[in-house]
Amino acid sequence: MEPIEGVEIFTLQETPEEKQYDFSPKTFDDYLGQKELKEKLSVYTQAAKMRGEPLDHLLLFGPPGLGKTTLSQIMAQVMGVGIKICSGPMMERTGDLVAILSGLDAHDILFIDEIHRMPANVEEMLYSAMEHFRVDVIIGQGAGAKSINLPIHPFTLIGATTKSGMISAPLRSRFGITERLDFYTDDELQQIITQSARFLNMQIEPAAALQIATCSRGTPRIAKKLLRRVRDFAQVAHQNEITLAIVEQALAFQGIDKEGLTAVDAMLLKKIVINFNGGPVGLETLASLIGEDRDTIETVIEPFLLRKGYLEKTARGRQIPHTALLQLKKRFLGQNSLF
Ligand code: ADP
Repeated sequence: MEPIEGVEIFTLQETPEEKQYDFSPKTFDDYLGQKELKEKLSVYTQAAKMRGEPLDHLLLFGPPGLGKTTLSQIMAQVMGVGIKICSGPMMERTGDLVAILSGLDAHDILFIDEIHRMPANVEEMLYSAMEHFRVDVIIGQGAGAKSINLPIHPFTLIGATTKSGMISAPLRSRFGITERLDFYTDDELQQIITQSARFLNMQIEPAAALQIATCSRGTPRIAKKLLRRVRDFAQVAHQNEITLAIVEQALAFQGIDKEGLTAVDAMLLKKIVINFNGGPVGLETLASLIGEDRDTIETVIEPFLLRKGYLEKTARGRQIPHTALLQLKKRFLGQNSLF
């Protein structure tokens, strides 16, 4: 399938550009939004620190790019401990987990992203590590193989996942704290964009920051990515201030309209309008129609369209609500459409 203009916006993983040049909050004060969650985590970390104990194991739910890793790094900073970041699918064998766990110092944090994608045998080994701070290691091979039970330093596991339903019950029950991150409001994203622009030594008009926020799908990672693209336009135009006009130009260049719909959103909606007269359509069919995987549709594309009222979920699949359908028919089929 041809690459789709605008698809880069949906990248779920951290990019090297993000890692190197972005502002990333280092304290709870710098971390904007998620107010209630931040307050709770701030109390839990301070209390654990006062007691001289590791923080209870924590499970964080939420779509990609909302700040789960960043929050965990801030917690490690507050506790004054180290943090190791890895991802579930990266741990292919139990030996990988043993190597990571035995490298942790006392009270360190182990952050496992996409914890729902860990192989079953690795997950089982994690149970005794979380509960008793011990792991079973097999030494030798065949008939002479022996299992020894080794102690590890007490640590905190922070598991992050985009899919709450895919965490097994035994794993879920071993977390003392379970929390959820919500999408950010446009107002919060506007503040995050202004904060990031300051870090990049750029001025930004409030209306320009708000327009980027509107197109950021409630997600700081996307807000920051768009800001970097807008900054390119400002710099080429020799402007130190990002204006609304520059933002509009940069967004149009990325194939994003004023409401924040990308070329991929438009293509998905257009397929439902033209091929299925508004739906309902199954998720698998949609995925193959636009050449994206189910996961990207469910975690990144769809939540924004649902919140914007362009899509609804029914027992028979995804469909476009009646009023939105009329509007989209005009957009895709012309003013005088008889459909
Ligand atoms: P996740 O782990 O949920 O995928 P990250 O923690 O990697 O998300 O955050 C993605 C990007 O968004 C990072 O550049 C991070 O600095 C930024 N970010 C996330 N949340 C906030 C926030 N509340 N305030 C400012 N920047 C944020």
